[in-house]
Order: sequence, then structure tokens, then C-alpha cells
Amino acid sequence: MSQVRVRFAPSPTGGLHIGGVRTAIFNYLYAKKMGGTFILRIEDTDQSRFVAGAESYIKETLSWCGINPEEGPDIGGDYGPYRQSERKNIYQTYTQQLIDEGKAYYAFDTPYEIDKMREKLKSAGVLNLNYNSASRKTMTNSLTLSKNEVKEKLEAGTPYVVRFKMPDKREIRFYDLVRGWILVHSSTLDDKVILKSDGLATYHLANVIDDYLMKITHVIRGEEWLPSAPLHILLYEAFNWESDMPDYAHLPLIMKPDGNGKLSKRAADKGGFPIFPLNWTDPVSGEIFQGFREMGFSSKAIINFLSLLGWNPGGDQEIFDLKSLIKKFSIERIGKSGTKFDFEKAKWFNQHYLKTMNFENLALGVIKDLYDDYSIDCSPQLGKQIVELFVQRVTFPGEFANASQFIFHQPKLYDQKIIHKKWNEKSKNALKVYANKLAVLSEINGDEARELFQRTMASIQINPGKVLQLLRVSIMGEASGPDLMKIIEILGPFEISKRIRNATEQFDHIKKSLL
Ligand code: GLU
Repeated sequence: MSQVRVRFAPSPTGGLHIGGVRTAIFNYLYAKKMGGTFILRIEDTDQSRFVAGAESYIKETLSWCGINPEEGPDIGGDYGPYRQSERKNIYQTYTQQLIDEGKAYYAFDTPYEIDKMREKLKSAGVLNLNYNSASRKTMTNSLTLSKNEVKEKLEAGTPYVVRFKMPDKREIRFYDLVRGWILVHSSTLDDKVILKSDGLATYHLANVIDDYLMKITHVIRGEEWLPSAPLHILLYEAFNWESDMPDYAHLPLIMKPDGNGKLSKRAADKGGFPIFPLNWTDPVSGEIFQGFREMGFSSKAIINFLSLLGWNPGGDQEIFDLKSLIKKFSIERIGKSGTKFDFEKAKWFNQHYLKTMNFENLALGVIKDLYDDYSIDCSPQLGKQIVELFVQRVTFPGEFANASQFIFHQPKLYDQKIIHKKWNEKSKNALKVYANKLAVLSEINGDEARELFQRTMASIQINPGKVLQLLRVSIMGEASGPDLMKIIEILGPFEISKRIRNATEQFDHIKKSLL
């Protein structure tokens, strides 16, 4: 088998949708698995949809994910250029070949004439309103005009497009690596425009020519391109390139979290999650869309999460880094049916990867956030302690600074439910005794704090369970949180005893007001 060559071929028409990132990942995984080549091709033939900045956004996304192409624009390679707008002449040459061989033709119809044709067909009760083998006979094109007439029109500069002459009564049969055999009848297809009036190829023509010239062996792309595949196959035939036709694998649709319809920007907005991998600024409206990266996702989490959207590794393992994904990946295990975009699962992956990150680095971020957002100076040591304390409880690095506020300020509000339920003379006395014992110490570690607490509770014969939550509320205001004894270690015995004393006075008032 020839060397595997796959391409990710996005159109730079806006921010890259997260589904596009999945396509890129699947292509990359397959290339690496097979020892092949991963290529980036920018499909920018549709100038009317071109958006400045979109190409660099695509490249930045791939680089953030660590799935770098080996060939592509600005990288180079033996089959460039890799930007379709720079390949105009190539498409024109091949279009001419199809015209000369009678497989494509000039069509001079104006949009108005095409509308008229459709109206006429409609009023005659015809269901298929396509420009196709039947209707083309009634239109102004090089099949109905004489050679001379065509020549005259071309010389006069009459606007035209080139259409593919869809073969009549043909069954197109092809094998999709994900979906199996697919059969389409040519009567359902129209004479697609392959070269537009601006002289630029359309997606279909450029895509097929480039896949051929770039020696692409596998086309792995989203399901939305499945309806285009029969035309692509016919184009291969028209060029006599059948023996070099790539294998096709159309990836399953990514659905909304509830499984109801395709994942869209609107659905993402509604679900409160991003649709773009990185922040994207709409160049027209100036609107900024938050990306997964800026929300605090690590690229490892995104890669792991997206690779399981439609691909089933088999077994229970869910955590895969890029290396193990490459090892395990296979096209056979890609599913046919739509796959739900479960944002909660994405968060779950992020939580997992957060725990595997370098804590010193995370601490640097926490220190910065505390300074920027709260004007708090935090030492590197405390920064690291904060990370250790909360790493099991947060999903995003940006949450540490907010979660750790009680470290820097004593609570203003206390959990009333706990006070109502547990505050009484006995528990008050227990907290006071513990505070007194702490007050004489200069430092204490978590284990010692726990031991001292147990011992103190035993000496005054109270069940520690009746006091523990009150102790937490007195220190942090809330009834639940990370390891309390670690918090005592971090804040130190003096601060803790001060907080307990402060709180006991307040608890009396609160309890009274609740009665
Ligand atoms: N340019 C197409 C896109 O934007 C590529 C489709 C394909 O991979 O063939 O997704």
C-alpha cells in the first residue's frame, strides 16, 4: 500500500468550529498511526466567504493542539502550493481538459434565466428543478449552441460558468470506510458548477484535483460532505484517475448535548459553552466568542474529549494522551450515528488533566490572577498550597483565585443552616477550647491539627462530628470545602484561633435571629 497521506482541508470562512478540530484530530491520528503524512490545505476558492484572520486562526488551533501538519501553507512540501487561491491555473487547465473531452461545458445562462427555467418546470409539475441532463437541453450553453456561437460569446466576454456534464442514468457506487457501500443514482444529481464566473474553481473541482495531485490516500471528513462524494467520484472518473481515488471516511455528525439536532453556535450559546477552540473575534461585528482555551481547557483535555466523539476505542478506558490515541486509533471503530457533544464530559476530562499539570506552573497563574483580579500579593509557596488544596475541586485554572478568597479574608457570611442545627453551649465551648489551644502555638501542620482537635474533643467529651462542621464554617463561612486541617496548616494557628473567636460571637447572634 502506498504511503498514507491525509489532509485537513478547512475553508477560512470564519472561526474554526470545534467539529472541524475533531476532523483535524482524526486525520492526524490516522496519519501518525500509519506512519503517514498529515497535510494542511486551505480551501479558499470561495472569495465571497473569505474571512481575514481565519487561516492564522486555523494554524494557531492546530499548533495549540500539538497536531502540526508536515505539509501546508508556510510550511511547504512537494505538492504545493497548499492554498487553493494560489492554484488557480491548475484548475483552469484541468477544466479545459474536461471541456475538450466533452465532460464539462460552458453555460452562459443568467441567474434570471435559471430562475425562469425552474418556474417553468415547476408549473409543468416537474419535481426535479435541477440544471441537469434534461433541463440543460433548454438552456444557453455549449451543448445547445453551435461552436461558432460559443466562440463568439467567449470572445465577447459574456459571463459564463463551467458545468460538469452529469452522466445520465448512472449508478454511482462507492465504499465508505465508515458507512460501507453507498449507492446513488445520477438522476438525483445536477450539473454542478465546477468553475465560476470569476475564473475560480468551486470547492468540488479544486478539492478533487488537489486530492489527486497531492496524492491523498484517505479523505476523512465530516458527514456533511457525504452528498458531495458521488460527484467527486465522477470527477475522478472523468479525469481517468479512478485507480488513484482515495478511500473515503465520513465522520458522524456532532449533535447537541440533548441529541436533538446538529451542534450549532446557537446550541452552544444556549448550553453556555464555546463552539470555537480559541477566542474568535468576528471581524464584521467585532463580537468576541470565548474559546475552549480561554475558558481554561487544556489542549490535552480537548484532544482526549474530541477523539472520543464518534470513535470508540473499545473497553472502559477513557483517558488517552495523544501518544496512546495514535497507538489505538482505527477507522474501523468510528461509528455511523451522530454523537452527542457532552460538555459536562469535556469538563470531566479537563478536571482530570488539571491534576496532572505542573503545580508550580499552575501556582504562577493563581498568583497572577490573585494580583490582577483581587490585588492580592500571594507568595509562590502559598500559591502552590492553594493549588494543592483545590486541585480536586476545580475544573479550570481560573477558578483557584476565587475559590481561595477565604484564605485571604475572614468570612463575612456564615452558613446559617449549620449554625441553626449545631450551635449550642456545648459546641461553643468545644470551639473555644480548641481555639485556646491553637492560640499558644506558632505553627501546626495538618496532621497535628487533626490530632489536637480529636484530643480536645475527647477531653471535653463531645463527639467531634458535632463540632467539625462548625469549625469549618467559623474558618471559611461555608459548610463544605477542601481538607480543613490543611486549611488550618496554611492559615496558621494564630489566624485560626482569631477566626474561631470572631465567629463564636457572630454565631450567637445568628442563632438568636433564627429562633
Ligand atoms: N473545505 C471543506 C471544508 O471546509 C473540506 C471538505 C473536505 O474535507 O473535503 O470542510
